[in-house]
Amino acid sequence: LVVVASLVDKVPNLAGLTRTCEIFNCECLVVPDLSVKEDKRFKGISVTADKWMPLMQAKEAEVLGLLSLYRKRGYTIIAVEQTARSLSITNFKFPEKVVLLLGKEKEGVPVGLLNSVDQCIEIPQFGVIRSLNVHVSGALLIWEYTRQMMQKNVS
Ligand code: SAH
Repeated sequence: LVVVASLVDKVPNLAGLTRTCEIFNCECLVVPDLSVKEDKRFKGISVTADKWMPLMQAKEAEVLGLLSLYRKRGYTIIAVEQTARSLSITNFKFPEKVVLLLGKEKEGVPVGLLNSVDQCIEIPQFGVIRSLNVHVSGALLIWEYTRQMMQKNVS
């Protein structure tokens, strides 16, 4: 599982994602700028997770190229986003090789990128607020992926 957080710019979200990705043994977390590791706020939240978690740098402009590279390597590209054609996380069966693309804190995943993913997945919401926090959304998808892979391995 590769998590692309190139569109995420808040340090606490990047730090939280680093920690969550490390704990669930994700293959790689892509961040917009590796220098975020030196940020004091990052260190406080990631609690050294960046030492064990493979981080890679890609700016927003490089995301399209990165996604097509992963697709060529057999990965299914999934945007974590609420759209009219999103599938619910409750009935999606994850393949093993997956790239999760997370959206921008304010605008979500830009339309240009949404058009180039294989699938959009959303988490059902029952409250009044428009959307979940991006790290929370990523964590829920990472957990569901992990749960499904664990189930595969016991059956
Ligand atoms: N598109 C939102 C704003 C982005 S929220 C809006 O129009 O208000 C930041 C990011 O969190 C999104 O791009 C997406 O990656 C993720 N996210 C938030 N809520 C989500 C949900 N219910 N399902 C899937 N992803 C979600």
